[in-house]
Amino acid sequence: MQAFEATKMYFSRAADQLQLPEEIRTLLLTSRREVRVQVSIETDQGDLATYIGYRVQHDNARGPMKGGLRFHPDVDLDEVRSLAALMTWKTAVVNIPYGGAKGGINIDPHQLSTKELERITRKFVDQIHDVFGPRTDIPAPDMGTNAEVMAWIRNQWEKYHGFNPACVTGKPVEHYGAKGREEATGRGVGILACKLLSRLGRRPGETTVAIQGFGNVGSHAAKFLAEADFTIVAISDVSGAYYDPAGLDVARCLHYIIDHNGALDGFADADHISNEELLELDVDVLIPAAIGGVISSENVDRIQASIILEAANGPIHPTADRSLEGRGVAVLPDILANAGGVTVSYFEWVQNLQHYEWSLDRVRQELDRVLSNAFEQVWRMSQDQGISLRTAAYMLAIERVHRANLLAGLAG
Ligand code: GLU
Repeated sequence: MQAFEATKMYFSRAADQLQLPEEIRTLLLTSRREVRVQVSIETDQGDLATYIGYRVQHDNARGPMKGGLRFHPDVDLDEVRSLAALMTWKTAVVNIPYGGAKGGINIDPHQLSTKELERITRKFVDQIHDVFGPRTDIPAPDMGTNAEVMAWIRNQWEKYHGFNPACVTGKPVEHYGAKGREEATGRGVGILACKLLSRLGRRPGETTVAIQGFGNVGSHAAKFLAEADFTIVAISDVSGAYYDPAGLDVARCLHYIIDHNGALDGFADADHISNEELLELDVDVLIPAAIGGVISSENVDRIQASIILEAANGPIHPTADRSLEGRGVAVLPDILANAGGVTVSYFEWVQNLQHYEWSLDRVRQELDRVLSNAFEQVWRMSQDQGISLRTAAYMLAIERVHRANLLAGLAG
């Protein structure tokens, strides 16, 4: 199933529940604008390389569009379109004043030098600078991009439009980035895991966790959860998964990746298993924090966790989701579970617009407040109506976006 088809299925389940008319569904599913540009650069060897860059702007009824920029070889229009729509629902469910967008370039950042990545990023900005900015659409990091890439984006955009650091978020702290932005997505996953666990009447000290992916999101989630007394039994990256049923020493794992260029390869303090085996471990909580589509009809019957937090975007296929729901597995959907990142992006934008810097404590407190409110609303709706957390989150989000569109007179 294509990525956008999957997003559409989740949307439709909630839209059915809301009894949304067909023409409103079409309006809400159609992107405002889809940009596809050529990105040609000279490689370090002096050859010419041409890539395709995308920016899909899904909806702006609730505010400027917002969403990351992804560098990954699988990037295509369908995937970016699906991720842009997810951003609309994500910003709506946590109730921050944004719409949704997403961008991407079909490159493998690991195969390119830093100079080549910089040339690609700047060329992409040259092509699309007039369709994004602080009041229209604000990019941010996503898979394969980081604070350094955001600094290039800001610098290139400002060449055309003048000083305005609010044109992009997730920047380095030295470049008007928010303190706590880098940890925000993983920290948010941790905060929400604690909320969900407490609602389910369970205790962190008696809870085992497996995390697929130990990049920015997975590693910060592991750190937060270990500090909150959860037992992290498995983590993974592209080199495979590392498992210790008695619990991993997360601080040690974090030091290991710092000393090994961000990779777990060669980590010897645990059993080496595959990424697929990690998903199927007998744990209480499973956190897919890597790529999309990792839980499908192929492996869903072997998933043993009773709680899943979607730290990645779209890790569960809709068919697998149905079967997890049928088995009573509590799934906290991506549009809420990983919304900590865009929430702190919002705080960064606010600080940039006001030329005023917040302390790390303030960022963390506000993040906790925004995510806790959203969680309670979603939880209550799911309990009241006897529906999954995903359908409840989508319903809340769709309702907000629908109303904003109606009030703007766009569908009137
Ligand atoms: N790429 C992140 C996401 O999928 C963050 C987006 C942002 O900060 O705007 O939510």
